[in-house]
Amino acid sequence: MKKQETEKSKTNRRNFLKLGLMSSVTVVAGTSLISNLSSIGEEEKTSGEKVRLLTPDGKMVEVDAENINKYPEALITPAEARKGIPDRKFVMVIDLAKCKNARKCVEGCQKGHNLDYHEEFMKVQLIQNNEESDPYWFPKPCFHCDEPPCVTVCPTGATFKRDDGIVLIDNERCIGCKFCMTSCPYSAREFNWGPKNKFEDKSQPYSPETQVPAAEGTVMKCDFCPDLLRQGKLPYCAQSCPMGVIYFGDKNEDIVTNGEETVRFSELINDRGGYRYLEHLGTKPNVYYLPPVNKQFPLERGFDHDKEILERYKDVPYVQELIKQKKIKL
Ligand code: SF4
Ligand code: SF4
Repeated sequence: MKKQETEKSKTNRRNFLKLGLMSSVTVVAGTSLISNLSSIGEEEKTSGEKVRLLTPDGKMVEVDAENINKYPEALITPAEARKGIPDRKFVMVIDLAKCKNARKCVEGCQKGHNLDYHEEFMKVQLIQNNEESDPYWFPKPCFHCDEPPCVTVCPTGATFKRDDGIVLIDNERCIGCKFCMTSCPYSAREFNWGPKNKFEDKSQPYSPETQVPAAEGTVMKCDFCPDLLRQGKLPYCAQSCPMGVIYFGDKNEDIVTNGEETVRFSELINDRGGYRYLEHLGTKPNVYYLPPVNKQFPLERGFDHDKEILERYKDVPYVQELIKQKKIKL
C-alpha cells in the first residue's frame, strides 16, 4: 500500500486533519471563527502550538491552538448542525489486527462526552466468528449508516442524517420513545437515565454536535465528534488509541489517518480486505474493518487493564481455557 503522507509527531496527534480536511473544515465556520478570534484580547492564554486556518476570502492565517479551542459550538446554528460540514463524507476504518483492548478509545470518548463508566458510545466487544476461529477484540461505535433504520423510525425528526454522512440526535426533539434503539441492528444507542449532575453542564448552549448538556430521558450515541472535526481534530477515540487502531477521514478526498499515518482510504480497504459489519443488512455503514489477521497482541492482553472486563467474558469457553492455562491473571 502506498502511503500518501506520514506524520510522526505524537504531540500533534490531536490536530490531524490539517492534511486534508483542515482547509475546508475551517472555511465552513470561517466567518464566525475569524470574527470570534478578533474579539479575543491580548490577555488570552496561548499554547505555543500554531494552527493554520483558511478565511472565507481565501487567506491563510495562523492562530494559536488555544484560541481554536475557544471556538464555541454555539456558533454553529441549528441549521448548520443538521446540514453538516459541506463537501465531506466522513468515514472510519478500524484495524482489528492492532487492537489489544487497551480501552483508551472508550475512556477518551467517555471523558470527551461526560459519560459515566457504564455508558459507552464506543464498545470493545469480544467476538468469535465460529467455534473453530480465535476470538478477537472488536471496537464498535455507531456506524453512521447511509441507510439508517433509526432515522426512518424516529417520529419526531430528532434523529437525522447529515450531508457529511454523520447521524446525530437532537435531544431537544427526542421524546425518549426508544424506537431508534429497537431498530438499530448494532445496538449503538444508549438511553440517558442520569445521573443528575450530567444535566447541569451549562458551559455551553446545547448543540446536537456535542450532545451537551445531556437531557434525561432521551437517547444518545456516538456522534463521530463533529465539534472536533470542525476544529480539524480527530474524534476522541482515534486520538486516544495508543496503537493507532482507528483511522478517520473523508471518503470524498479518499484520505484517512490515525494521526500518525495518513493513507488512501480506497487502498487501505482494497489492500487489507476491508469490510463492513453485517453488510448483508443493507444499512451501508460508514465504519469499515480491517480483518484480525496476523494479530499484533494475544487476546489475553485485553484483560490486563480492567477486572470488570473479565467479569463480562469469564463464561466464554475460550476465556476459561486461557484462565486454566494461567494466561489471564485473576
Ligand atoms: S427515542 Fe428519540 S431519537 Fe429515538 S426514535 Fe424516539 S424520538 Fe427519535
Ligand atoms: S467517534 Fe466520537 S462519539 Fe464516536 S466512539 Fe469515537 S469518540 Fe466516541
